[in-house]
Amino acid sequence: MLLTACRLSKALQLTLAVVKPDAVANPVILEALHQSILDNNFAIVRLKDLAWRRQDSERFYAEHSGRFFYQRLVEFMSSGPMRAYILAREDAIRHWRELMGPTKVFRARYTSPASLRARFGLTDTRNTTHGSDSVQSAQREMAFFFPDFQVEEWMQREEPAFRLGRICYDSGKHVHVLAKQR
Ligand code: UDP
Ligand code: MG
Repeated sequence: MLLTACRLSKALQLTLAVVKPDAVANPVILEALHQSILDNNFAIVRLKDLAWRRQDSERFYAEHSGRFFYQRLVEFMSSGPMRAYILAREDAIRHWRELMGPTKVFRARYTSPASLRARFGLTDTRNTTHGSDSVQSAQREMAFFFPDFQVEEWMQREEPAFRLGRICYDSGKHVHVLAKQR
């Protein structure tokens, strides 16, 4: 009883998830990824289809500048349309990274064959999805993709209803919204 109360009172966490250009280019894979998000109990708080210029890509991945894969990565990430999500779930950051699987696709296929990168990834660079790796990076990355989204405001106004499941899926907009009060 007490345990249940504690579980219910733990606030949801937000994370930034991105479907990279390799996956958006294939509508069947894009749809399968979207369905995996829903099947794995993430609530979709925001969704945005967009494309990056090279400078966006360089800025987002500045922490990797100098690494051997940096040029390849920034070129790839500005090579075509992407889809960004803000996802909510208890421990969303960890759960989304688990669902994606290891960074390197061949390792993912070996160690986590059911993961998204194992199932859909093409190469170590074209690895289907991105996910924030900490609370700090989630904050920075959500602001990068969704500059109008106010985390604090969402936490105060919407998180409790999302946590209690008082939401429904808007199949036109492909996001979860608060259930209408009767
Ligand atoms: N990447 C790559 N080669 C590598 C490592 C990373 O091309 O050896 C790319 C890959 O697209 C990866 C991104 O760089 O997703 C960012 O790397 P990071 O180490 O942050 O991995 P992630 O957090 O995406 O798992
Ligand atoms: Mg990373």
